[in-house]
Amino acid sequence: MAWITDRIDRIFSNGEPLHDPIAKPPGEVEVKSTTCYMCACRCGINVHVRDGEVRFIEGNPNHPLNHGVICAKGSAGIMKQVSPARLTQPLRRKPGSERGAGEFEPISWDEAFAMLESRLRHLRATDPKQFALFTGRDQMQALTGLFAREFGTPNYAAHGGFCSVNMAAGMIYTTGGSFWEFGGPDLQQSKLFVMIGTAEDHHSNPLKMALSDFKRAGGRFISINPVRTGYSAIADEWIPIRPGTDGALFLAITHELLRTGRFDDAFAARYTNAAQLVRVQPGHPDDGMMVRNPAAPEVNPDAPLNAWWWDEAAGRPVAAWSEGVQPALFGRYTMPDGTPVATALELLRERVAECTPAWAEDITGIAASRIAQLAAEMAEAALDQAFDLPQPWTDWWGREHDTVRARPLAFHAMRGLAAHSNGFHTIRALAILMSLLGTIDVPGGFRHKPPYPKQVPPGVRTAKSWDDIKPNTPLAGSPLGWPAGPGDLMVDDDGRPMRIDKAFSWEYPLAAHGLMHNVITNAWRGDPYPIDTLLIFMSNMAWNSAMNTQRVRRMLTDKRADGEHRIPFLVVCDAFHSEMTAFADLVLPDTSYLERHDAMSMLDRPISEYDGAMDSVRVPVVPPLGQCKPFQDVLIELASRLQFPAFTRADGSRKFKDYTDFIVNYETAPGSGIGFLTGWRGADGSKSLRGEPNPNQWEQYAKHDCVHFTPIPEAMRYMRGVNRDYLRYAKENGWRKRDDPVVIAIYSEVLQKFRLAAQGQRPGRQPPAELRERVARHGDPLPFWAPPLEHGAVDLGKFPLAAVTQRPMAMYHAWDSQNAWLRQIHGHNRLHVHPRTAQAAGIADGGWMWVESPWGRVRCVAQYSEAVEPGTVWTWNAIGKSSGLWGLHPHADESRRGFLLNHLITDELPGDAGTLSNSDPVTGQAGWYDLRVRLAPAGAPRDDEAMAGDHYADVHGEPLPAAGDALALHSETTWPRHSAPQPAPGQHPGMHRVSSGAAHVLQYFAGRGRRGKTTEQETPT
Ligand code: SF4
Repeated sequence: MAWITDRIDRIFSNGEPLHDPIAKPPGEVEVKSTTCYMCACRCGINVHVRDGEVRFIEGNPNHPLNHGVICAKGSAGIMKQVSPARLTQPLRRKPGSERGAGEFEPISWDEAFAMLESRLRHLRATDPKQFALFTGRDQMQALTGLFAREFGTPNYAAHGGFCSVNMAAGMIYTTGGSFWEFGGPDLQQSKLFVMIGTAEDHHSNPLKMALSDFKRAGGRFISINPVRTGYSAIADEWIPIRPGTDGALFLAITHELLRTGRFDDAFAARYTNAAQLVRVQPGHPDDGMMVRNPAAPEVNPDAPLNAWWWDEAAGRPVAAWSEGVQPALFGRYTMPDGTPVATALELLRERVAECTPAWAEDITGIAASRIAQLAAEMAEAALDQAFDLPQPWTDWWGREHDTVRARPLAFHAMRGLAAHSNGFHTIRALAILMSLLGTIDVPGGFRHKPPYPKQVPPGVRTAKSWDDIKPNTPLAGSPLGWPAGPGDLMVDDDGRPMRIDKAFSWEYPLAAHGLMHNVITNAWRGDPYPIDTLLIFMSNMAWNSAMNTQRVRRMLTDKRADGEHRIPFLVVCDAFHSEMTAFADLVLPDTSYLERHDAMSMLDRPISEYDGAMDSVRVPVVPPLGQCKPFQDVLIELASRLQFPAFTRADGSRKFKDYTDFIVNYETAPGSGIGFLTGWRGADGSKSLRGEPNPNQWEQYAKHDCVHFTPIPEAMRYMRGVNRDYLRYAKENGWRKRDDPVVIAIYSEVLQKFRLAAQGQRPGRQPPAELRERVARHGDPLPFWAPPLEHGAVDLGKFPLAAVTQRPMAMYHAWDSQNAWLRQIHGHNRLHVHPRTAQAAGIADGGWMWVESPWGRVRCVAQYSEAVEPGTVWTWNAIGKSSGLWGLHPHADESRRGFLLNHLITDELPGDAGTLSNSDPVTGQAGWYDLRVRLAPAGAPRDDEAMAGDHYADVHGEPLPAAGDALALHSETTWPRHSAPQPAPGQHPGMHRVSSGAAHVLQYFAGRGRRGKTTEQETPT
């Protein structure tokens, strides 16, 4: 350690104290408000800048979201600014160098724009679908989506297909809203909180603050999760569950509620379609659809209201919502014309008849008695602890209510449910369970956040035919949308997919967020067609945002017979030198979140709260590093050069100078008064939500903590799906196209339309023969549980364990391994294994082992943990890195001892319909939590089929060092390893780096290493 002391002595030899807490800080200190982006929760922060350097970040006490609270990530934003992974100038792959070798040369922005402009201009004028834009967890999808639409390509999506589209689609196709940005638990008024499958990355600080108050007020918190970390660790009760089985649990609870009659029958009858009459007439083209009442007007063909109820007292059908009628919720009946019908709830009751707690026990691993008790506890909270809040409101049918019925039972769920190939129906089952207990947009239950709830389904539709994709013309329709039936799919006359990721095709009909994880595989294969240019923003698709990472990386470098890459041109915009940028042909250096403007818009995913609309912005607190340019400005510049109609005046000149100008002046339609930001609109800034553009809007946001809140009137704060005044208000402000009500879909006619098409019972579009059975099975109007698709392709006897990842509270996606403070918390990851499971496999605590799936294997360290159900193993996501990237030393712990579970996950699965993406057959959500593995101690002789074809293993099953890997592989390293590329030209030097043998220390002392100056020193002992 002498070298360290010596080094420190030299650094402080000028006699300056390390820190004098009472001294006035030297230099000019300025405190600026902006919005955090160290994760997607968007807390308000105050950034202390001294002499141009970020020196301290604190939570903004005036911010309505976090009230001054900041987490470890948020305060570590300072290290992002000085990260050695920062890219600082546009780069081009060196002519003659191989893609992926990481050999770049700097170019100017003029050259970069010229290169992009000519390539994109040609594609737009000839075949716009040859351009694909895919982005990661950015917060600007309203802008990126607009860019793609104006370009005329359908090939656009963000990260949702890999993240949690099942949560969005399963909930929105049922209730019109979902969790996190769209809605959440009202813990202030709740008594029982049930959290399922949630790590700490969604709504992090606000949810933690609410949980703290909830627990202090005596609320009971139950967490259902295979792993007891994070939120689960502070739960009153942790109920371990096997991954991918949550749907069985929800159906069993529903079984219990219906069996005992313990549900909110009044809510179900009036605000859901539970009492509506469904035709039960197999072979009829309308079998399984609601019987329509021709005498009632049909205001919205995609969400019609002209249904029938059965009036049990009168023994006849009556128009739904007839005054004074208590409709039958259960039963099968015959219409006067002889049509056999059943109520939707009757069909659900029949569906769950066999889904007993004992049935679910075998699947979930939760005792049947506990499942029954859980159902009783939920009913007790929702029904017996209900109270009336004296809040008058008027429903859509004009009935005035003096109170709102509170149901103090709240749920929250996220990716743990979503990232399974059976996730859509699982989440439908949860949404229905919540609806039966009446906990939708009521005090103490789930509550929507403006602009939600949307219609079921929302009114946005995609392009639908090749005629909608024309050269030099904006796409006719949206690249992403919400199909209401087969007619809204993006397929050609032969039923073939029209998008490169096959979203909105018969394979994944309700793919509301696209399938980012299919893009590289499909483009490589040229299925459904080849593309020319793939522009990736802020997404690590060559590493943790891919399944079967090794294969995907090979596809990126693979060439056709003519020597051209199968994906000819790869453009990557990112702030950091990552696994993805290493494959780029053109690298565009993005800014950090402290160097740019951003809008968290009501047109996108705002930060609204239950009682009002809230949006926020980021404003730069320091200038961009080097030549970094915000991606938003890149898009505005390209859109202007390519003369997209929305970005060009009639005389051909550009409409917007830059991104800030665009945000202020863009309107959804000429004169609509609706733009990206809702605050300080109108020429004098006096209007909210709607109003003419205000040239001083950014200044107003900057003056007011970068946030704007518009409270909605009190009478509009609950029951918003059927609240007449709210629905009108939402329509007036552009949040929805219609003001008709949201009827919660216990029974989904949208799905039934797909099933009927697959059964060949209806005219119109029908799936290709090989997909009929799949569409008919998964287009079930009622939720069902089936094992994840992967289980059908794997020998579960050989691969008995489920393997999942979760995101740690101290890191977000792949970003934070470049952060010197945060990597002190997580420098590498281990596989967490229950001691009984590990011991049965002969693996010691801290021992090296192999984790094998049918698709690949990794070598890593075991960590014993009793906080995991014994049939599951898990690790932190994206801490393991490829050597030498993210500004890390080639021998850094992240690559030497860290590993990535994605190497084990397959991107495709064989099945009856051929080989298809390992994704949910309804939404295309990546099924990356369906992984099955087995464990074996490292070093033990192996002799089985898992070793076959492994070119890097010696006879004992241990890997040999890769050619050119300076680190001789020994028993203390993970596998697979990748050779380290050179740092990119201009990569920010960041900090002093001190080396001693295998030890490498990054030093940063604020104020001593000024931005832009090279300070790297190697000091071997
Ligand atoms: S929760 Fe997320 S947004 Fe909030 S301070 Fe932490 S990192 Fe920043």
